Amino acid sequence: MSLKQKLQLAEGMVFFGIVLGLLGAYADSGVAVCLLGLGVLLAGTFLLFRWKRCPECGDFLGRDNADYCPHCGKKIDYDAKKTNS
Ligand SMILES: [Zn+2]
Repeated sequence: MSLKQKLQLAEGMVFFGIVLGLLGAYADSGVAVCLLGLGVLLAGTFLLFRWKRCPECGDFLGRDNADYCPHCGKKIDYDAKKTNS
């Protein structure tokens, strides 16, 4: 997977988790759905923090999809595929 695909996957999980959580909150006896949504949301957030890093120095890239690493200034190639991840 490229960095772009990973981030899309993680952001999709966060979004899906929020939707599930809301569905569970509004449904009768939807506690399990709500908890499932919370779990997906947390997993997506975890993956975002894990994956949204500079390939060069490993620093966290922040909330914006910046073109350049705020830490080392290296251009971030979101389409590059790393073989070891
Ligand atoms: Zn960097």
